[in-house]
Amino acid sequence: MDQNSNNTPTYYLKSSAKKKNNWKRNQKRFEKNEQLRSQYPPFELSSHLNIIHLHYKSTIDTLNELISKAYKTKRYVVDTESQKGETERHGALIQIQFLYSSDQSTTILIEINYLPDKQSNLYKKIIELCEIIFNNGNEILAWGPLENEFTNFHHLDLIHIDKKIIPINVQSLFSSGKNIQITHPEMERRDETTADTSYYIYDTPGDNDDMNDEPQINDILFGSHHQTHVNSNELWSLQKAIETTFGKFLDKFETVNHWKCGLDLQLDTWKQKLFSKHHYDKTTEQQRRLSMIQYAVHDCAAVAELYFHRYPEKVNDHHIPKQTTTSTNIIKHLDDDLLEVSDDEIIQILMPRFDEPRPTPETQHDEMPTLTIGVTPEEMETFHLSDVQIEQQQQPQIITTLTKAERQRKKNIKLKWKQKHRPDFQNKIKRPIYYKYDYRKIRAQLTDDKIYTSHQITINRNLAEVVIGFKTKQEKEAAATKLKINYFSRTQYIERWGEPEAYVTASRQYVAQSNQWSLKELILQVIVQDSTDQQQFVEDDCTFAIRSLRLQGAKCRSNKLSLSSSISTELNLTLLKWIRATERKQTNAMITLPVYLNATRSELLFTIELEAADNSLNEFDFYERVSQLNQVGDGHENENALQTSSFNFESDNYTRDDSNGEDFNDDYDDDSGNLHGDYDGENDDEVSINLNDIYVDHLNSHHHPFFMKLISFIHETKLNKITTAKLLSLLRSSSSFPVDLIPKTTNTLWQKLQVSFNYKCYYYCSTCFLELANYNDSCPKCGSKKQNNSELCIFSVAEELERIVKSNIDIIHWYSLPKNQLAADMVNGSWYKQNKTDEPQLALMLSTDGKPLVKSKQTRTSVWPVLGFLVEIPYPIREYVNNIILLGLWHSSVAPPCTLLLDKIVKNIKALITTGINICIHNTMIHFSLQIQLFSGDFPARSKCNSLVSHSGFYACSRCLFEGKRCSQPCANHTLYRWADFIKKPPRKRTQEHINSCVQKINSSNPKIFGVTGPTPLSSILSIPEQSTFDYFHLVLEIHFRYLLSEWYIRIQQNTIAIGLLNQFMNEISYPHSFNRYPVDFSKFDKWKGSELRCFMLYTAIPVFIKLSLNVRHSFPQVYLAHFLLLFIYVRVLHNFIDHRDIKKMPKFIYCYLNHFSSIYEPCKELYSVHALVHLFEQVAQHGGLAYHSLFASESCLQIFNKIAHGSVILGEQIAFWWCIFQQLRSRKTHYSTNLFTDKQIVEDNFIDLIQLDAFRQEFYLSFHQTFGEFPIASLKYYTRYKAGLIMYHSLLYSRRGNSNSYSVCVNDDKSDTQSTLCFGQILFFFQMKQKPFLFLKKFANSKKKFSSLLKPIESVCDWDIYVDRYYPVVRHSTSELVILPCSSIICKCICYRLDDQYSVFMPIQLETEHD
Ligand SMILES: [Zn+2]
Ligand SMILES: [Zn+2]
Ligand SMILES: [Zn+2]
Repeated sequence: MDQNSNNTPTYYLKSSAKKKNNWKRNQKRFEKNEQLRSQYPPFELSSHLNIIHLHYKSTIDTLNELISKAYKTKRYVVDTESQKGETERHGALIQIQFLYSSDQSTTILIEINYLPDKQSNLYKKIIELCEIIFNNGNEILAWGPLENEFTNFHHLDLIHIDKKIIPINVQSLFSSGKNIQITHPEMERRDETTADTSYYIYDTPGDNDDMNDEPQINDILFGSHHQTHVNSNELWSLQKAIETTFGKFLDKFETVNHWKCGLDLQLDTWKQKLFSKHHYDKTTEQQRRLSMIQYAVHDCAAVAELYFHRYPEKVNDHHIPKQTTTSTNIIKHLDDDLLEVSDDEIIQILMPRFDEPRPTPETQHDEMPTLTIGVTPEEMETFHLSDVQIEQQQQPQIITTLTKAERQRKKNIKLKWKQKHRPDFQNKIKRPIYYKYDYRKIRAQLTDDKIYTSHQITINRNLAEVVIGFKTKQEKEAAATKLKINYFSRTQYIERWGEPEAYVTASRQYVAQSNQWSLKELILQVIVQDSTDQQQFVEDDCTFAIRSLRLQGAKCRSNKLSLSSSISTELNLTLLKWIRATERKQTNAMITLPVYLNATRSELLFTIELEAADNSLNEFDFYERVSQLNQVGDGHENENALQTSSFNFESDNYTRDDSNGEDFNDDYDDDSGNLHGDYDGENDDEVSINLNDIYVDHLNSHHHPFFMKLISFIHETKLNKITTAKLLSLLRSSSSFPVDLIPKTTNTLWQKLQVSFNYKCYYYCSTCFLELANYNDSCPKCGSKKQNNSELCIFSVAEELERIVKSNIDIIHWYSLPKNQLAADMVNGSWYKQNKTDEPQLALMLSTDGKPLVKSKQTRTSVWPVLGFLVEIPYPIREYVNNIILLGLWHSSVAPPCTLLLDKIVKNIKALITTGINICIHNTMIHFSLQIQLFSGDFPARSKCNSLVSHSGFYACSRCLFEGKRCSQPCANHTLYRWADFIKKPPRKRTQEHINSCVQKINSSNPKIFGVTGPTPLSSILSIPEQSTFDYFHLVLEIHFRYLLSEWYIRIQQNTIAIGLLNQFMNEISYPHSFNRYPVDFSKFDKWKGSELRCFMLYTAIPVFIKLSLNVRHSFPQVYLAHFLLLFIYVRVLHNFIDHRDIKKMPKFIYCYLNHFSSIYEPCKELYSVHALVHLFEQVAQHGGLAYHSLFASESCLQIFNKIAHGSVILGEQIAFWWCIFQQLRSRKTHYSTNLFTDKQIVEDNFIDLIQLDAFRQEFYLSFHQTFGEFPIASLKYYTRYKAGLIMYHSLLYSRRGNSNSYSVCVNDDKSDTQSTLCFGQILFFFQMKQKPFLFLKKFANSKKKFSSLLKPIESVCDWDIYVDRYYPVVRHSTSELVILPCSSIICKCICYRLDDQYSVFMPIQLETEHD
């Protein structure tokens, strides 16, 4: 309603005076209505109301019910509505409210235009009902004279009010003269002083005025021509009476409306377009009707409530009809429905389906009501709330409170549901929590009270709650008695943990006040009592005693500090004394030390000064001592400062736990556009290691800030060891710095930071690979020094594993549970499952690749890192840079021989496989066994490390003994692995035993046997045929798909229009913000990065080429698409899948693809790389989806080596050196928490587009009302982003979304009336209702047209169309509706692509977190 007085529509000027008056009047109404809406809370029903529509679809049973009810009801409220704008007025709706009880009533809505045939029994029953109501001396209440209500209904012969009834005009009780006693005095005064005529223009019963009224002043003032009969000057509108009496707002928005539209959704009139603006919109149609029903019902109910307010004594003055079973039944059902069904079901439920058979009330107590079956797990979340909360949340509108028995029954139903669907639910306890609690304090407190948990403790800071898991029901029950509701309250916190900083501050204030000293001049003096002189303890006004302080790496005797070799000593009694600074007696050097709350050192309480026993000692001697002690390896390696646990707050069985999900999450802001939050990326320019990040975070753990600045400087300026030492000595020589602060040597600096350089360097002659003692030695064997020697840095596998396991232990534990695992991940492959034990274990995925380092033109060298990934860390976090294990690093101008690169690494691994590895976590030593999952690399790396011939040789395949054939003359340049040969005589599988026997037979005359070129260290830790895997990044994308693109490009570029269109189509697509790269220019396909190839192959290639074919005929040979389609399905399924059974269906796709390959493309291209595709499905069955063991992550890691290498010589060692520093500092401060995966919440921000929000507001209100049965509160907040685990969703109204599309989603809409439950749409915004996140979605209609109808495979393979339609669902973007759904219904983002004006494809993104 955008009319307002300053904005008169242009047609107004041309209109007649009559129309002008109408327009003015309507306009005033809108303004007044909206003004009141903002002023008052909405009018709500105070009692239980049952709504029954009467029309041709009603049943005789319903009527019989009503008739028997009418016999027992003596008081009714009547109201009517007429159709908008009809010249000959015919009433459209009669509302009759049965007032039979003070807490319950029934309203019938007689839909005049939908009455049954007048001859029918049903119609006769309706007449009978009306006769009973309007007879028998019943009281009939109305707003205004009763006869006026029925002026427009006479033709129906339905209601005769000349019978024996008592008409009561409630309006006459409410006039300015009569209601003084019953209104609020404040209200009244205002009423008297303001002559607000607009009060009077509003509705009265039967108000049908719209177009054709005489523009008489009375009409404008009183809103109804009927009222000219009475003394109208004193009459109030119903709205005003409600406002004045109750201070509530009665919405009159619907006054003038299409009352004959057919309100009951049962009538199906909503299926036609009436209220929708442009296109038909189901939601609009339904919502308007529901809103009109509410209006109609409120109009009656308001009259009743005013009447009872005026005559309270009448409240109990009615016969309460004994409720018949069926009617109780109806009410109960509506109750249950509203409370238990999901929000989008409410439309269905609000339709009272009386014609449907109802379950008998007897069975109801044992069974769930039929409509509650579709409860989603998300709904069940609310059950975790206490019952009090649930009741508070549920503010029924039409239906109010439940009886106690009903509540109990409802609880039982919920309980049953939970027992069935959520076996774990019972073993959790939720408690409110004071903000200062962290995980460590919670655990300590629970341990103190001997409460045994399953270690699943989750803090939800937003809700200020903690959820504690228990292993068994018994333990949970035992704990429940101890875990009072205030167990984590502030009071508890202070009682148990104290407020130490407050204590210190308070003591200072006390001393200052009692001595009349200024706060500023007070300093804290510490007196540590030796055990022998306890009697000296004097507590005066300035001294406070503390017990149980602990000192690390130092001891205190006679109140003097000296170094100690014991890790921690407890101080006997410590006195804190506030003295004036002037009183301090200076003797020896004072050492300032921090006092932390506890060993986590997360809370610095204050600093104290203690005298040193030896004047030569300074702070850093103490710091260093603690560092040294910690390197002994007591599990406290992180504690380098004097640490005191004060005030007895620290429990003795303290375990260290740095889990800090919140901190970590900050690293993963989606606006960085980088899901990995790490330094990664293939574009060199984008790679930057954010040193500041590391340092800033490190500061928080109370290292000296100066060191951080120092390292930052050293790295930025590329200082080497010598120049660093020079810098340090320069700093020390300057008098402007305290000398003792500067580390004497570089080593001291790293020591202070506890970086351990856990690698060893070896040097080799780059010509003959003889091992040398030093890098600069010249080779004694070949003597040449043409090229620099080669470096090999070998890292301690154990230490690298320990570093990573420690910072990932929580998520490793979480991911070990099958329910948290991704279906297609390695852990669900057959190999991992076969080798799984019940013991903690670690499986390594190894990879290697060479990468040129571009440091100077003269020295072109390469690095060959051997990297490891831990399978037990959940994907994709296992691929984050600081979770990458560096096992070894070769740096040279020549490639390393296989044995040189792998020997030492494999030896280290073998030792660990034999012994396993002990890692100390939370003070507990855990033993992990180690195994190798797989080894991966590109073709050259694979053939080198597997000791097999290169891909151009014979018997190149690592999986089978397929010989291959030279291509025929005249070419004879290629070794072909032809499908025809393969299928004619399928080759034997290669086995590790076969490889071993081949190695035995190799000698100088037979250097290769079946492609085996020699021994490889890998054979001793894995099976090459089964565990040396193909990498789809290289094999499928870089080699095969790039070749296909080159062939396609040759054809397309012949048509200049086609190539232009193709690029245009590619540019029409907008991708989620997490897609850092996507293809834009087809002619540059040879420059595309792996992630661009992936995006094109897995998502956009097929729709883009189809659109091209539809627009420019014959521009692209259809056979390419028909053929590629089979490869697409094969790779897309193997890439990632939900059901393992899909793998079994894949062979026929690749067989068929390969069968046609040589006839479509060049025969000489049927190389080993084409043959290798046939083995991918076997590999996937063993090791999981291709995406999970690809080399995308290793490839981007190679970029990092390029970045951290300094200078131009001994680059290998440089890289190893800085790798240790960065990785160790970063891993130490990072603790990956399960919240990363489990947290699902709206992101708080203010990036909403307010203009667009206003455009959607009205539809949202209606939708909201439909969903929740109420209108949103004015303070409802709108949000634009929602985060589910690692995935961030945006919305259309997110003002910073730019060109990215992270708002197009696939949702699970169970209640959709289409067959498929998957729906697609665009998120407009998010909001929270009852603490649950919801989204407002523009949902597109699913199309009956299938994508598979647009293309055909070269040969029909069973189920091809099912896969195509799964990956390319089609929607009609021209048809949409606005719906509210819980955020839990989101499945994934989609890339949406317009096929034409009507249809779009929504391609679900199955693995958004894949590395690029
Ligand atoms: Zn040599
Ligand atoms: Zn093969
Ligand atoms: Zn050839």
